[in-house]
Amino acid sequence: MVKQRPLSSKKKRVIVTAALPYANGPIHIGHLLEYIQADIYSRFLKMQGQDALFICASDMHGTPIEVNAKKEGVKPEVLVEKFWKEHQDDFASFQIHFDNYYKTHSPENKELAEFFFDRLRKKKYIYTKKINVIYCPSCARTLPDRYVKGSCPYCSTADQYGDVCESCGTVLKSTDLINPKCTLCGSVPMQKQSEHYFFTLHKFSARLQKWFKNAHLQPEVKNWLQEWLDKGLEDWCISRDEPYFGFEIPGSVKEVGEKKFFYVWLDAPIGYISSTKHYCDQRKLNWKEYWYKGNVQHHIGKDIAYFHFLFWPAMLMAMKIPLPDLTVHGFITVNGQKMSKSRGTFMTAKDFLKLYPPEALRFFYATHLDRKVVDVDLNIDDFIAVNNNVLMGSIGNFCYRVLTFGQKNYGEVKSIAVEKTLKIQIKQLLKSVKEGYENHDFKHAMKALMSIADLGNTYFQKSEVWKDKESAESKKVVGFCVNIARNLAIGLQPVLPSLTEKVRKALADETYTWKDLDFGWKGKLHPVEMMVQKIEKVPESSVFPLHLRVGEIKEVKNHPNADSLYVMNIYLGKELGIRQVVAGIRKLFSHAQLVGKKVVFCVNVKPAVIRGEKSEAMVLVAEDENGASLLDIIKSDVGEEVKVAGMKNNHEQILFDDFKKLTLLVKDGHIEFEGKKLVTDKEAVRVEGRETGAKVL
Ligand SMILES: [Zn+2]
Ligand SMILES: [Zn+2]
Repeated sequence: MVKQRPLSSKKKRVIVTAALPYANGPIHIGHLLEYIQADIYSRFLKMQGQDALFICASDMHGTPIEVNAKKEGVKPEVLVEKFWKEHQDDFASFQIHFDNYYKTHSPENKELAEFFFDRLRKKKYIYTKKINVIYCPSCARTLPDRYVKGSCPYCSTADQYGDVCESCGTVLKSTDLINPKCTLCGSVPMQKQSEHYFFTLHKFSARLQKWFKNAHLQPEVKNWLQEWLDKGLEDWCISRDEPYFGFEIPGSVKEVGEKKFFYVWLDAPIGYISSTKHYCDQRKLNWKEYWYKGNVQHHIGKDIAYFHFLFWPAMLMAMKIPLPDLTVHGFITVNGQKMSKSRGTFMTAKDFLKLYPPEALRFFYATHLDRKVVDVDLNIDDFIAVNNNVLMGSIGNFCYRVLTFGQKNYGEVKSIAVEKTLKIQIKQLLKSVKEGYENHDFKHAMKALMSIADLGNTYFQKSEVWKDKESAESKKVVGFCVNIARNLAIGLQPVLPSLTEKVRKALADETYTWKDLDFGWKGKLHPVEMMVQKIEKVPESSVFPLHLRVGEIKEVKNHPNADSLYVMNIYLGKELGIRQVVAGIRKLFSHAQLVGKKVVFCVNVKPAVIRGEKSEAMVLVAEDENGASLLDIIKSDVGEEVKVAGMKNNHEQILFDDFKKLTLLVKDGHIEFEGKKLVTDKEAVRVEGRETGAKVL
């Protein structure tokens, strides 16, 4: 176990945070790992009597929010407010309890961002400098890295974003890309000079180095940090051009001649403080008591380590605010693979709740979190087994059995067996539980709790109290077992608050803190609710990744910039309307062969701009070495769904790469996916002239 800084035994102010979720999309099961981790830790601290606050907020600024709001035709303020509410509902449904969940688009955050900026500036940690930026004249905007695509200057791979080449892994600048394109409109952007604000990160190298050496950081993290420091720290650009959704930098027009905004990564971490301030202001408390005199515990994913271990501590150093402790976790994989919409493993919080109870996920994550920076695999079979065999079969079953037995037969606990050895064993295990929570090694804590449940189950089983219910000895044994169950529930409270509550209600106890661990509890027993819900395995999802529709080709034009491409207008029925499709079939079919024909389109591949023309669907074509054919639709209407027999179409958007991985084959004039025919409600889809084994692309 990698030990953390030990907790103070005195009551201490602690701020616990999880990263601020971006108010631009739903919470998914990958996010939940971190919020559950931080929630468990915060609940544990509170049980220890610490003055802990679990603080979070929605991160509301930046280009993606501004662009998406425009696309949806709403103001950014409206979009972020919608997600702010939605995120809180999702967290609440997983029993993630924040003391304050605020927003970065708030007066408190504006005030603090300006306060930071002003201070840093006075201390000469901020300067301005002219740099080259990428500007799209047709969108009339500066393009951030993720809004420019082009070929990698190092390995020539096409279609790479301006921040990093996915093929060779080189960190890029968008100004380095060859043949750059604006991802918003497809046109060719230009370079432009623009004056921006910079934070002197390089001045903090030595101090950061000293901090890394002494802080209780995870060893993996120390290695990354050393690498970054060895490479040398570049100063950090903290401003962005208009249009931007964020806080305007005071005085920027006067100083650099145009409006500049704080880069979202400047004001997002300040959101930790402004959310604390918002909480404190309402209660006549002072946030500085927490941030200057208390301890701050950040929980973050490995993807944002750079910001949290370099920029943020450097800013805090400059502000003379004590540095936080940080716990970094890995990512979630599902069944061993990255979450993916097309495989049906990308589950939002809401999707998950339709299938499984929230406490099962809290427990599963807790049994896997050990403060190592490794990915956690949510293997659904394991997940079900852990819930059914461990949580229900061992822990839940023990508590339910002994409480029910005691309540039905005696109605109370009046005497308790003296079991010295067992008591010592359990006390030792409870120490391990505490140590595990303290060090973010929840896996260790869960193991110890499972051992307690095992000891309890064995003891109860061996005693065979049901053979002689009325003996004084039996009553004492049950009294001892009730105390074990009570201690188990107390130890589990940070992870499973609602299971603990069921035990607490059965014993009519008020609240539980760590001090309530005891073997001397006596009193009345009340009926117990079912502890844990069994999970039935959902049959293998029979979802076909594509959303296919019958469409009619209305118009065909030659693509202005490519010899092999057509630009077609297709009608997909009332619901989907007209879409433009760019298809590489100009060498295969003439205009006359296409116009007016009903064919099959895939309508859920992410729209793309191909050589400057938007493409919003893909036409399916069967091809073998002798030629190509369109799929024949005869009886079905335009707009009808085309399905794989016995499967449902996935309507979520998928990536072109996911599309390419699928294999549809011609067999005896039909199309098949994994041996099942492609059909509509009225007919099986047919193809003329192509041999069995021809591929459909
Ligand atoms: Zn553009
Ligand atoms: Zn490359």
